[in-house]
Amino acid sequence: MAENNQIIFDVQHLEKAFGDHQVLKDINFSIQSGEIVSLIGSSGSGKSTLLRCLNLLEVPTGGDILYHGQSILAPGFDLNKFRAKVGMVFQQFNLFKNMDVLHNCTVGQVKILGRSQKEAEEIALTNLEKVGMAPYRNARPRHLSGGQQQRVAIARALSMDPELLLFDEPTSALDPEMVGEVLETMAELAREGLTMIIVTHEMAFARDVSSRVAFMNEGVILEMGSADQVINHPQHERTREFLGRYL
Ligand code: ADP
Ligand code: MG
Repeated sequence: MAENNQIIFDVQHLEKAFGDHQVLKDINFSIQSGEIVSLIGSSGSGKSTLLRCLNLLEVPTGGDILYHGQSILAPGFDLNKFRAKVGMVFQQFNLFKNMDVLHNCTVGQVKILGRSQKEAEEIALTNLEKVGMAPYRNARPRHLSGGQQQRVAIARALSMDPELLLFDEPTSALDPEMVGEVLETMAELAREGLTMIIVTHEMAFARDVSSRVAFMNEGVILEMGSADQVINHPQHERTREFLGRYL
């Protein structure tokens, strides 16, 4: 893991439009190593689009994103290396259905990082142990619960040695009784100092683990600050109204 206080991402005047629909408007923030930033806001406010711009699953239509001071939009930027450093965990787990749990966690290491199968398996098992899924190493995804699949997806992302993990509503597709085990896994990563950007509707979790919280509304960050500032003492009426539906 990188040293603390290093700026990993510096987002400058970021814009994203789909046709004439301006989805992100003048987004500015930076994230330092070790920070946990939660993105909250209504459905359609642009949270997923912002995350997807950060790992270039979507190409911004304006502004810039600096990764350790280098524009990820510059010609010649090493996208493969970058993608290995910036992991993503999706709402729908996206495990490879035809591979068992262990193989799900080794395939990227071997293909993208060039690790040997043996080394990849050791690293995968360490991470599966961390999320409590080592006993299921030979199971197929379809035999696991949603919460278990999401924990495997987290172990898979960790096995790539990411510098930072992006989470897009990692618990939204789960049955309520499985939300806790995934949030607990993420809280453990937070305690270990992993840098994370988390889109979530779990307000109590966001309040407990975040170093900062950003409230998005209609494509802009309406307010951003400590969890105490944004969740306990929101400045904007729109933020208060949104939080009122959750707290
Ligand atoms: P959130 O994650 O906050 O719910 P999204 O980032 O998914 O919001 O979407 C923000 C807006 O962008 C929505 O109006 C959505 O319809 C639009 N949008 C997202 N992706 C696309 C796309 N690929 N093409 C066209 N419009 C899109
Ligand atoms: Mg979304």
